[in-house]
Amino acid sequence: MTATGHAILGTVIAAKIGNPALALPLALASHVAADAFPHWDEGTNNKKNKKRITIEAVFDVLIGLAISYLLVFILFPQTNLPYVFLMILVAQSLDWITAPYYLFGIKPFKPFYEFQKLFDNRMKAPWGIINQVAILALIVILAKIF
Ligand SMILES: [Zn+2]
Repeated sequence: MTATGHAILGTVIAAKIGNPALALPLALASHVAADAFPHWDEGTNNKKNKKRITIEAVFDVLIGLAISYLLVFILFPQTNLPYVFLMILVAQSLDWITAPYYLFGIKPFKPFYEFQKLFDNRMKAPWGIINQVAILALIVILAKIF
């Protein structure tokens, strides 16, 4: 998924689960579940060069933080911001440790890339984006209601 998608899931987990012993493993598991869901992300179109993917990924991370902040501010104001930030980082963590190999070819990080490939389920734009927005919107709405 996009870094934004992982950030939104991390935010929902932080908002709903105050116990870090439960929230931390769940945030990590959310990465695998989110990537197994058919989705588009910056790397889906493999004709792009790494520089462009890197630039898009930086924007993706920033957009994810901005949307997460808005979600907390508007929907889950009782949630502690540093706690949200921690859950976002954990929800994105597999991508953070894959990026050194994927973007810059740094070999020791290759096992994380190989691991992610096992469950990464890609879908081209626009459906891979529409799909992602729909499932995330649904999860946020359910988190707000229940
Ligand atoms: Zn991933």
